[in-house]
Amino acid sequence: MLKCNWCESLNATTSTGTVYWELPDGTKAVAITETPSVVCVDCGMEYQEDSIVKEIEDQLFLINTRELEAELSYTQLMGKQRLLKRNYFDFTS
Ligand SMILES: [Zn+2]
Repeated sequence: MLKCNWCESLNATTSTGTVYWELPDGTKAVAITETPSVVCVDCGMEYQEDSIVKEIEDQLFLINTRELEAELSYTQLMGKQRLLKRNYFDFTS
């Protein structure tokens, strides 16, 4: 069972949705479809869990965003080849 981060309702469910993400360099925004999301029927919030947000941010940082489509699915995004083996700028790991 999922708890909504916003209203703490236990009626939150997993879903997929489209999110709009600004690239790390701020040059453009991309639409990422079919992104794993949490939807709350009580307060209407739709959001991505922190782990998903981090995965998207890491991936956008590591791939060549100049060749990135304006819209693509989460699965397509995660399948992109990374330029670096790891995120050298993430000092938390
Ligand atoms: Zn809620």
